[in-house]
Amino acid sequence: MKYRNRVRSRISNLKDPKNPSLRRNVLCGAILPSLIARMTAEEMASDELKELRNAMTQEAIREHQMAKTGGTVTDLFQCGKCKKKNCTYNQVQTRSADEPMTTFVLCNECGNRWKVCAQLGGLQAPQAFLALGSGRAP
Ligand SMILES: [Zn+2]
Repeated sequence: MKYRNRVRSRISNLKDPKNPSLRRNVLCGAILPSLIARMTAEEMASDELKELRNAMTQEAIREHQMAKTGGTVTDLFQCGKCKKKNCTYNQVQTRSADEPMTTFVLCNECGNRWKVCAQLGGLQAPQAFLALGSGRAP
């Protein structure tokens, strides 16, 4: 009974045409469903929460932009698809620190992505990278 009322208040808040930012923030993931499940109707409408929402939206936008613009532009990799050398790479330590970094390469020309398992030092021997990163699925 109590839970059903909570759900109803959630739904009415989400459908409220006067509160489109709440719906938008939930839809775009700025407010997690687990958070909204704990929010009261007052919280969903409060200025404090609006500020929190704004902050979270800003954070989400920043993260999105980082995901897009992060990485280092290089001409050391050649795309296996379009054969251009306009690529961006990101290095990620996958398992333990003992293991080589995994380098994720994105072709800025055609959007082709592949990964290379080698140390950054290997960049001094780009031919070895080209052999590994021919663009074929592993
Ligand atoms: Zn390409």
